[in-house]
Amino acid sequence: MEWNRSETLALAMHNCTQCHGAGLRFNKKGAASPCNCVLRAIFRICWDRFVRCVTQERHLSRVSLEPHAGRMRPGTWGRKDEEYIADFCLISRRVLDDFEHRLFRYHFLLGADWRLCSRRLGIDRGNFFHAVYRIEQKLGRVFRELQPYPLFPLDEYFHGPSRMAPACAVTASGRQAPPPRHLQFPRPLRKTA
Ligand SMILES: [Zn+2]
Repeated sequence: MEWNRSETLALAMHNCTQCHGAGLRFNKKGAASPCNCVLRAIFRICWDRFVRCVTQERHLSRVSLEPHAGRMRPGTWGRKDEEYIADFCLISRRVLDDFEHRLFRYHFLLGADWRLCSRRLGIDRGNFFHAVYRIEQKLGRVFRELQPYPLFPLDEYFHGPSRMAPACAVTASGRQAPPPRHLQFPRPLRKTA
């Protein structure tokens, strides 16, 4: 996907020293990439929604009809909140390495503070927060770039129509090139026709 200013502007930190509130950074060749403050914002929005989904009363979770793109494909019924919880956990397990995932589990899923995490993982406060930032940036990017169903924007995830997965690129040898590994996450729980 291509990152642009209209996507990042609302998410960027106004006082960010890297992007100065624009949300984009440019390399020497002029190619744009999202600033870390944008990636962290995306992660935190997704995490907030995750916390809401797991802490809400069970009876508030609803079954909803998902429309499919195309006239010949009927909609399917699904439980979006539960699918979102599963996607959030499974994607994180897939993307993070073992150390990062342990920290992610203790801090983000189980609610442990930095003292508890530091003791458990044998790291100091500085390394704890560095790792938290790294995890937020890594997951923020994947939650947005995941194909064909990114977790972010949440509106699209919860209310958007399902689409067919984009065709894989074809390499010079004529074989299909798979998408990057971190974007190959299968969708076992959603959009089954
Ligand atoms: Zn920034």
